[in-house]
Amino acid sequence: MHSFHYRNAALHCEEVDLSALAEDHGTPLYVYSAATIRDHYRRLSSALSGLDHHIAYAVKANSNLSILKMLADEGAGFDIVSGGELFRVLSAGGDAAGCTFAGVGKTRDEIKYALEEGIYCFNAESEAELCFIDKVAGELGKVAPVALRVNPNVDAKTHKYISTGKSENKFGVDFDNIAGIYAHAAREMKNISLRGLQMHIGSQLTSVQPFVEAVEKVAPLAAQLKTDHQIEFFSIGGGIGIVYEDSLASGSRDWWEEQSGEDKPLTLEEYAQAIIPTLEPLGLKILLEPGRMIAGNAGVLLSRVLYRKQGAAKVFAIVDAGMGDLIRPALYQGHHDIIPVTESGRKTETIDVVGPICESGDFFAQNRELPGLEEGELIALLSAGAYGFVMASNYNSRPFPAEILVDGSEARLIRKRQGFDDLISGEIL
Ligand SMILES: *Cc1c(COP(=O)(O)O)cnc(C)c1O
Repeated sequence: MHSFHYRNAALHCEEVDLSALAEDHGTPLYVYSAATIRDHYRRLSSALSGLDHHIAYAVKANSNLSILKMLADEGAGFDIVSGGELFRVLSAGGDAAGCTFAGVGKTRDEIKYALEEGIYCFNAESEAELCFIDKVAGELGKVAPVALRVNPNVDAKTHKYISTGKSENKFGVDFDNIAGIYAHAAREMKNISLRGLQMHIGSQLTSVQPFVEAVEKVAPLAAQLKTDHQIEFFSIGGGIGIVYEDSLASGSRDWWEEQSGEDKPLTLEEYAQAIIPTLEPLGLKILLEPGRMIAGNAGVLLSRVLYRKQGAAKVFAIVDAGMGDLIRPALYQGHHDIIPVTESGRKTETIDVVGPICESGDFFAQNRELPGLEEGELIALLSAGAYGFVMASNYNSRPFPAEILVDGSEARLIRKRQGFDDLISGEIL
């Protein structure tokens, strides 16, 4: 479920009127629903209740401290991909002992920081990195817990920029080499302990079939590594897809049920039922690293229409948010539903919704059929809670938007809008 809906023609997040929030805090403005985030976390956890599992929220999807704090309070651990993300988790009151550290390019400083803080596990992505972690741990007189990320060479059937589990991707270690590297590490690397096995095949997967294929392919390897090296966990990564189209309409119903993939629809229950039979007999702790599924449909980006422009070939609505605030459409053809914050029965028109940034890629919709937008009115870009604000840039010297967390009838500013001073802080004249 998610908690965005019209009430008397006014778009609300939970109990809060979004046009009032835009008046108070200006636009562009990110607004998140706390109830939605909690609901998504709890639903995933309960779908897996038959399994000894640990959910490590993928911090990179939305790393605002207040959201991390809320998930820490729910009992989530965290999957981090940088020292900066570890710093965020700790600043939010999260526990290093619940963190896994992913990513292909960890630096010495990051490895040192994570060792000193005592993270649960490094997920190494190459033999070279494994050797380096061993070396850094040795210098510090510590033993580093590690897992290797296996690349199962499975097609996740998602956009090529967010596909990670094929052998041509930079991620993970080739399936056939894994066992040999564990054996080598056990023999030679005195400063690491082999704690688990990890995989993550891609993001925004809309059918269970690639998950099942990957889990079935890798489970025997996990069993073997448990026997040979006493590993304690198998992480199956994140990647659960969400509804981007017609997400408002399906919000009041069970929106996972609305998902229709190429093969089988991906609902949390189907996901769980499809993989539990293979995972449970392993007797390993199962880790999951969802990001988008937790936060994606829990956030919207509010923006105001600055101008209408009638071009020779098209009509444009120029809005005050741009690709610097939400880059998904420009980066990987991401779709966001666009709806007026004040609903009214107007005629639709075919329009491009574009930002103010000096790039032709700065658009949110092209040739989209939308209710006729008027200058000065507010729109909401839906499903912007994951890979939204976290990818913001100051390009064109535009300050970052503010972020608001709604919980019931309460709306709290969780990140101030940047000002011009923020734009030049750190620069030296
Ligand atoms: C990005 C990432 C995730 C989260 O992916 P979602 O599609 O947001 O669930 C999980 N694990 C790893 C290793 C990642 O890089």
